[in-house]
Amino acid sequence: MTILPVIPTSPDQPDAVTTKRRPSMPPRHLADLDLAARKVAVTTLGEPAFRAKQLSTHYFGRLVRDVGAMTDLPAASRERITGDLLPTLLTPVRELACDDGATRKTLWRLHDGALVESVLMGYPDRVTACVSSQAGCGMACPFCATGQQGLTRNLSIAEIVDQVVYLAGVAASGAVTGSPPRLSRVVFMGMGEPLANYPRVIEAVRRLTAPAPEGLGLSQRHITVSTVGLVPAMRRLIAEELSVTLALSLHAPDDDLRDELVPVNQRWKVAEVLDAAFDYAARTGRRVSIEYALIRDVNDQPWRADLLGRLLHGKLAHVNLIPLNPTPGSKWDASPKPVEREFVRRLREAGVATTVRDTRGREIDGACGQLAAGELTEASAGGAADAEVAQ
Ligand code: SAH
Repeated sequence: MTILPVIPTSPDQPDAVTTKRRPSMPPRHLADLDLAARKVAVTTLGEPAFRAKQLSTHYFGRLVRDVGAMTDLPAASRERITGDLLPTLLTPVRELACDDGATRKTLWRLHDGALVESVLMGYPDRVTACVSSQAGCGMACPFCATGQQGLTRNLSIAEIVDQVVYLAGVAASGAVTGSPPRLSRVVFMGMGEPLANYPRVIEAVRRLTAPAPEGLGLSQRHITVSTVGLVPAMRRLIAEELSVTLALSLHAPDDDLRDELVPVNQRWKVAEVLDAAFDYAARTGRRVSIEYALIRDVNDQPWRADLLGRLLHGKLAHVNLIPLNPTPGSKWDASPKPVEREFVRRLREAGVATTVRDTRGREIDGACGQLAAGELTEASAGGAADAEVAQ
């Protein structure tokens, strides 16, 4: 593991870890707005309308996030624009690299002191950004580090987009060893439940997929939205007619166990949530990804593999098994490899495409929320004033 130096992007920002602040939404940013709204915003600032496209080309086209580096802008305009359209939203607290530089994780502090994480994962043929959609999470899944923290607040559109633009810049700098320099995929598998921050996540997807300079120009098919299974929001997503990939965190094929592992199951049951996922697949023609964290002696029994196989047989779905990454103090552990292999074998025998997710970033607490959780533990150990930030 390598701890990378953190370059302060906003020296004027007070140290939020020692400052008590209430969670609050950040100031407006260029990435919150579509191109038409950016034009209105710049003219309101007394800038010419073409400035909207110029700024957008810098930010989305060249991945320049700092107005100071936009040297073709008059100095007076830069100042106005920094304050009104390009405020610093994300301040790096910690950057870690592992897997020989192919995995990089950034822990961010937001303007109100909330902490979120993003991960950049390089492969020989692609680079993927894993981003957060909320600070904390309200879904309370007991095996997930973020689930233990509770929800602090939703991220703004721009707080989501800015994580991706930053990571695309890291990829473009050639820092991801052995991978192409272009970020091509985004997965909403960082902190938070994306469908609980629905309108902002959808707008962020629109910004990420709009052609440059309005947006980042990524393919919708290369964006994955992962959900615990908020059925009404899944149905709303079907109606958006987007072609993003949907991942459903199932983790158990039976209601008894899923009620415990994914508490929102008490509201929307396995049958109902799978129905919504299959409808999404049918409407978009895109295979849904069924996420299943294998937990030793909890959900890894052969009969559960068989039941899952029966539920998914003949459906436009594949299973992505995730070896559990135990959270500190957790009573649960990953399944032994022979048990995992048997689980895979049974699913495949039932005709269900199954993969086992690689364990990227384990060394740097790559699992959901663990880096932020570690930082919060350290922060609260530092004194009572810090504990507030940990909420
Ligand atoms: N809230 C969304 C997205 C965030 S988590 C969701 O639940 O889908 C991304 C994936 O990582 C989810 O499938 C989640 O269940 C899984 N996950 C969380 N903690 C984990 C852990 N400790 N080990 C393995 N997978 C975990």
